[in-house]
Amino acid sequence: MKAELAASVDQRRKLGQEIVDSVFSFGELGFQEVETSKYLTGVLEKNGFTVKRGVGGLPTGWTATWGSGGPVIALGSDIDGLPKASQKPGVAHREPLVPGAPGHGEGHNSGQAVNILAALALKDLMQKEHIPGTLVLWPGVAEELVAGKAFMIRDGVFKGVDAVVFTHVGDNLETAWGPYKGSGLVSVKYSFHGESAHAAGAPWLGRSALDGAMLMGMGWDMRREHLRPQQRSHYVITDGGDQPNVVPPEATIWFFVRETDFSHIAQNYATANTIAEAAAKMSNTTVTRQVIGSAAPRYFNKPLAELMDANIRQVGLPTWTADEQAFAKAVQRTIHAKEDGLATQMPPLAGPNVDPAGGGGSDDVGDISWTLPTVMLVYPSNIPNLPGHNWVNAMSMATPIAHDGVVAGGKVVAMTVLDMLTNPAALDAAKSFFRDVQTKDEHYVPMIGPDDKPQIQLNADIMAKYRPEMRKYYYDPKKYKTYLDQLGVKWPTF
Ligand SMILES: [Zn+2]
Repeated sequence: MKAELAASVDQRRKLGQEIVDSVFSFGELGFQEVETSKYLTGVLEKNGFTVKRGVGGLPTGWTATWGSGGPVIALGSDIDGLPKASQKPGVAHREPLVPGAPGHGEGHNSGQAVNILAALALKDLMQKEHIPGTLVLWPGVAEELVAGKAFMIRDGVFKGVDAVVFTHVGDNLETAWGPYKGSGLVSVKYSFHGESAHAAGAPWLGRSALDGAMLMGMGWDMRREHLRPQQRSHYVITDGGDQPNVVPPEATIWFFVRETDFSHIAQNYATANTIAEAAAKMSNTTVTRQVIGSAAPRYFNKPLAELMDANIRQVGLPTWTADEQAFAKAVQRTIHAKEDGLATQMPPLAGPNVDPAGGGGSDDVGDISWTLPTVMLVYPSNIPNLPGHNWVNAMSMATPIAHDGVVAGGKVVAMTVLDMLTNPAALDAAKSFFRDVQTKDEHYVPMIGPDDKPQIQLNADIMAKYRPEMRKYYYDPKKYKTYLDQLGVKWPTF
């Protein structure tokens, strides 16, 4: 049956390419994935899935369900892009499609394609072989703000689900179990409130909210030296006032406070709050805070990772063409990275991360991984040695490299879900690992409060500014075989 599934995913390569290229062309930021969600739910509805929209209080959130009875397996992947990452795909030099616009500078345009190819192949097989079970597809909304999944959990979106398979773009075909490399975080906006005055005429009558925000940043930077090396934290000032001759009455500084376990995240968050209060005192202002989102440190399920790894060995990496390898090396050359091209060797199944330096990125799938048995597949749609969250990470993401990676990923997901559907002992093992090992001593601590709401207005202004121009570049699969064809890009261009 697995060979049949793999062949069925291969036959859907064209659909995978269309999904990857379409979502790439939408290039939408978190909470504004309007075209993306409309398009993806359309594909799923056309294929017999029942779509529920607006889940978790997220206008661009949804679930798409097919099948009946148990087990219930949920397939997720992130869908949002990054600011200022607009980039023409398939060319190995900096060339935005729309200057200043957002784009897929990580590769979140590809994960839903992996899941959809797998789900459609599974659906055919389940019908033919009368295999009971339910498939639920869902998107990671606003993952780049880690601001969606905790709300989905709080609103019960995963109630009744037995296990989650999460897919994320990378540069190899791999999975892992236990504490995963990277960090968890809480994302908080601190808003300082002062009083305006003529900055030259009567500055003594003003109280600068910008002073409060800057003092908070400086206070944190001093404290940083005395935090564990595992911490990562960063901030941007999203509102620093309006013009120099008006003492800023309002200012906002936005923090991501990261650590590698729940208690240290909470500890650093408390430290940030103390520094905020102190900065308010120093600047004679007041401060309020708003939690935007959170990501628990990721922890993946061992029995599920072992199932997935066996399928990874069976599927293997794509056989890269000479053009694909040459393009990858050209992209690496562009940023003076190591020029070793695309991965040709798979790493072994990774166990618990023990990197003492710790730190690293996050994904709010962490919250899901502490809520029910979860496994993550990394699939090879991007190029090794890139900086991440950068336009260079967009270069491969609507090219044959991305399409090949998605097909390989789709096969692994389909085969792993088939194992879960047909082998009850495997799911039982996953559940007992979750209960008796992972959550024996440590438990999910949601960082969002009961009254926090998804900040769905975020990025609306940026998209309003750029969408009219971006719309001209939306992929039209009816007219063009690929997005590269539509853009007139000769593959590969160095
Ligand atoms: Zn991501």
